[in-house]
Amino acid sequence: MADIIQLLPDSVANQIAAGEVIQRPASVVKELLENALDAGATEISLIIKEAGKTLVQVVDNGFGMSETDARLCFEKHATSKIKTADDLFSLSTMGFRGEALASIAAISHVELKSKQPDNELGTCILIEGSEVISQNSCQNQTGTSISVKNLFYNVPARRNFLKSNTAELRHIIDEFQRVALTSPDVAYTFYNNGHILFQLKTANLKQRIIGIFGANYIERLVPLKQESDHVNIYGFIGKPEFAKKTRGEQFFFANNRFIKHPYFHHAVNNTFQELIPENAIPSYFIFIEVDPKSIDVNIHPTKVEVNFLDKRLIYAILGSSIKKALAENNLTPALDFETEPGLNFDFSADRPINPPQIKINPDYNPFESDSKPASSFQKEKDVNLPHWEKLYDSPIDIPTEKEYSVHFESKQQTNAEENKHNVVQGGLKYIITSVKSGLMIINQQLAHERILFEKYRDQFQSGKNTSQQLLFPIQLHFTMADSEIVQQLLPDLKEIGFDLEQFSQQNFVATGTPPEVLESQIQSILEQIIENHKAIKDFDKDRKINFAKSMARQLAIKAEKRLKTEEMTQLINELFACQIPDKSPGGQTIIKIISTQDIDEKFQ
Ligand code: ADP
Ligand code: MG
Repeated sequence: MADIIQLLPDSVANQIAAGEVIQRPASVVKELLENALDAGATEISLIIKEAGKTLVQVVDNGFGMSETDARLCFEKHATSKIKTADDLFSLSTMGFRGEALASIAAISHVELKSKQPDNELGTCILIEGSEVISQNSCQNQTGTSISVKNLFYNVPARRNFLKSNTAELRHIIDEFQRVALTSPDVAYTFYNNGHILFQLKTANLKQRIIGIFGANYIERLVPLKQESDHVNIYGFIGKPEFAKKTRGEQFFFANNRFIKHPYFHHAVNNTFQELIPENAIPSYFIFIEVDPKSIDVNIHPTKVEVNFLDKRLIYAILGSSIKKALAENNLTPALDFETEPGLNFDFSADRPINPPQIKINPDYNPFESDSKPASSFQKEKDVNLPHWEKLYDSPIDIPTEKEYSVHFESKQQTNAEENKHNVVQGGLKYIITSVKSGLMIINQQLAHERILFEKYRDQFQSGKNTSQQLLFPIQLHFTMADSEIVQQLLPDLKEIGFDLEQFSQQNFVATGTPPEVLESQIQSILEQIIENHKAIKDFDKDRKINFAKSMARQLAIKAEKRLKTEEMTQLINELFACQIPDKSPGGQTIIKIISTQDIDEKFQ
């Protein structure tokens, strides 16, 4: 048989290789912007037409290229950024593989103009499909301008694969924003089809975020800063109340390079979990700085996944630094309680804030389920976030249980009569009481849900549970699939007070339950726990939090339940002893204050 292997012509090989680096116009935008930053530019213009399909141009005022370099930069592996493989480990530039310009030149029409500061004239080069068409001296301001036209003109398959202009423009904007966030000290102008889309002045990070995402971000951002031997974390997180249902404003940067990191994303989301509605995603702009040696740099230039050696440690520090930031900014939560008599406690906001010390256990792995599930929550709490509770305790404006009841009781003793009138039930749903600034309205069901949730969660954490033995064991029946789950969950269920025994494949008996649970509720509560359990995929911790949520939701007093004054005061007392009194475990608002001014307006 004849030989069948042939070497591909260079031009074809280049086009194929180019496809790895340049997938769409946005890839060109990213590479050109990064090159401009590497060239020390302080002003960069991005000009695109037809979502980059006909033109992507980047003009910078960086240090430019010599005549030889201007020609060389389009060669494969042409880079000024590394000389040896070792250099990879101390990389401070965006580019390093010398592939971008070679790839772009293979699949488009490129015009490059570049001038170095000391030269009178610059160099102008035209290249089409890797072939140099012309090279001349030309007038140019110091810096570089690269125009990329007719992308994929010689790779129709790729060109056809491109999405609508709207979709491609979206990709370009994403890349632009990522680069712009890493370089607030650089001014950008971004023109789309002749119109300015973004004009960003030199700024600090906060101003840059506002410049990109809009002035209403001014009040949404909470600064984040945590330095340690292994990692420095800084940036901003969005306040919980502005978390959205859609993804979008979530940015991680590792050593000032945009990355995607689902594991770290989980760390952030988890920390916000009880503060935002289910399925909402908090915004964040988080910069992680580590020793370059502790990142796997041998990554594909277009890939944004990065491997950290210390990722478990960073996960833990990330979570605790966010908690600290939220607590320091009174986001857990701040209420206006300059109260009327009867609901009177010291609420002066000037109490000093003592940021917690963060101790980290490097062996901590939130993904590792403990061999003894009964204690894993405890372990996580102890080693990872020893100050979790303290964070919410004293530094913020929520009165402690003691503080609150001391005032309340003394008031009750001196003026029991007056006190009674301070709490009323509205619509069989709300507890209404007057505070200095107006009326405070508490949703009774959600309040109770919060109280129970924290109670069960704490039981998990402390390992102390109370179980009430049943006089007559109750028989329970589950489907095959659910029985499996119940079996798995037996140790956890025991922890919250459910003593269950399996006596056949689908049948169990309950011999004890948490004291609040009525016999008639046992089956339905367990079913709810199973349903919730099916919905979660990951971690040990989620499972237990979920348990607590299921129990709380089922057992909370419902709307339509008439409450006695004492019951209402007790509920308020317990609510304000909670760590997060104003949000239900599902993220709904429990407390609203209607200001006197608002009430006044209603009477006009
Ligand atoms: P890399 O960025 O990985 O080095 P590129 O193909 O993106 O590879 O660029 C090749 C080289 O061309 C760079 O190393 C740099 O020396 C030079 N270069 C590219 N763009 C610019 C620019 N805007 N200003 C100055 N030099 C540039
Ligand atoms: Mg580059």
